[in-house]
Amino acid sequence: MAAEQLHFVILGAGINGLSCAVRLSHEYPRSTVHIISEHFSPNTTSDVAAGLWGPYCLEGTSEYECRSWAQETHNYFLQLWRAGYADKCGICLVPVIELFHRDTTSPWWQNIVFGFQEMYLSSDDFNLAHQTNYRNSKSVAFMYTTFTCEPSKIMKCYCDILSNRNVKFHQKRLQSINCLEMLNIQANAIIVNCLGLNSQHVFNDLELFPVRGQVQKVKASSVFHSFANASCYIIPNTDTVVLGGTKQKIESLRIDPNDRYSIRANCFAIQPHLKDATIVMDCVGLRPARSSGVRLELEIISFDNGKTLFYLFIYLFINSYDLTTCPSWVQAPNGPCRHT
Ligand SMILES: Cc1cc2nc3c(=O)[nH]c(=O)nc-3n(C[C@H](O)[C@H](O)[C@H](O)COP(=O)(O)OP(=O)(O)OC[C@H]3O[C@@H](n4cnc5c(N)ncnc54)[C@H](O)[C@@H]3O)c2cc1C
Repeated sequence: MAAEQLHFVILGAGINGLSCAVRLSHEYPRSTVHIISEHFSPNTTSDVAAGLWGPYCLEGTSEYECRSWAQETHNYFLQLWRAGYADKCGICLVPVIELFHRDTTSPWWQNIVFGFQEMYLSSDDFNLAHQTNYRNSKSVAFMYTTFTCEPSKIMKCYCDILSNRNVKFHQKRLQSINCLEMLNIQANAIIVNCLGLNSQHVFNDLELFPVRGQVQKVKASSVFHSFANASCYIIPNTDTVVLGGTKQKIESLRIDPNDRYSIRANCFAIQPHLKDATIVMDCVGLRPARSSGVRLELEIISFDNGKTLFYLFIYLFINSYDLTTCPSWVQAPNGPCRHT
């Protein structure tokens, strides 16, 4: 099939769906691209995230693949940052401090970020950070510099690009894979699944499970670095600071007052001045996680509705660190068919 005859149908309009649409419409300018989604920004899981770069929850996926996606994405953020998209796309270069109770193996991505250092901290250092729980000889800090890429901002930017490229948006909820049979999709269309956690129901992927994250976004003009320890994290974005957060294997999207209380208390223990920050909103999202790792493969599914239809599916599923891994595969030089 010639590249210009391609028809793409992207399911989902979170960071994955939109990044994919941007890449495909760029690679194949004569193709048609339709995005079908129940919700759009600012009502996706992606809008909840602070967007700090950092591979996470990728167990089951080879380090080789993770490394290449993670590196390409870091390069992509660097490229946007250098081109002056900090404000428009929420791309900021931020110093990061992560504290651990005990000696921890250095991560495989240490040479992707800038200036990675592993340090054993003295009690004076911990006094500085009010970390009374961490005063033992094995306490370690990772320090490095990397990017935040704010999903809401970059998704707004992507939507503007896509509207100018005549990509069509359709608001629709898919109950199951059979709904696709009812839609007027061309038989040779390539359907890209970016439904996030809901692939669990729509594509019956039983390996998927939610990792619930609750955060609070506040206005605070004095936070210029990202901090994380075992009980909380503080991540500056361009307009707000994200205080987090939970990682629970439950499916509730309800704001839990107990989580809210502990997020605030744990973050105030690190930076007491945050007590005075104006609260912008509390949010909850369900990170998609998958027991055997990222699913990135081509499937051919045939429906029987009187006539037999064949759809090519590229069933893309990037695990919970999509913001970190996604742009790299959508930027893949050989386009989508590379991932079979
Ligand atoms: C609190 C929290 C903090 C996070 N922090 C970070 C971070 O700092 N860095 C990072 O990299 N990641 C972070 N993440 C993870 C990140 O948010 C997700 O991995 C990412 O947003 C997933 O993107 P997605 O496009 O796959 O899914 P989503 O954003 O969930 O998009 C899925 C899309 O599919 C649509 N859809 C779903 N079901 C249906 C259906 N049945 N029919 C039609 N449409 C449907 C939805 O409406 C939506 O448009 C965080 C997540 C949470 C919750």
